[in-house]
Amino acid sequence: MTFPIQKTDAEWKTLLAEKGAEPVAYQVTRHAATERPFTGKYETHWADGSYHCMCCGAKLFDSDTKFDAHCGWPSFSLAIPGAITEITDRSHGMVRVETVCSQCGAHLGHVFPDGPTETGLRYCMNSASLHFTPK
Ligand SMILES: [Zn+2]
Repeated sequence: MTFPIQKTDAEWKTLLAEKGAEPVAYQVTRHAATERPFTGKYETHWADGSYHCMCCGAKLFDSDTKFDAHCGWPSFSLAIPGAITEITDRSHGMVRVETVCSQCGAHLGHVFPDGPTETGLRYCMNSASLHFTPK
């Protein structure tokens, strides 16, 4: 899969460092690592604003779609239309739906069909993949 924004691993590493991303952000966004639960900076963050891709800045979620899933990662019920691309993930002996940024391919997390709101979706995201912008 190719995305509009293409950079080498070295370029992403440099860019993330310049943006002040968390140290784990490179492994999470470019190599689909998962941050440890209950450690991310946005898990219990409830300010009004929007969440953007840490790598390229594309807007991914509005804060009013964020909810507390008690799973240890920031969770959202709805993504900005077109902002996220879904990929079937068969790693770790499970079939899950991986979510990546539609602009740069950054790994964000997974989406599950067990959300508590009317959308029925639970976007389970890594804080390290996100950048919050206050309203
Ligand atoms: Zn992106």
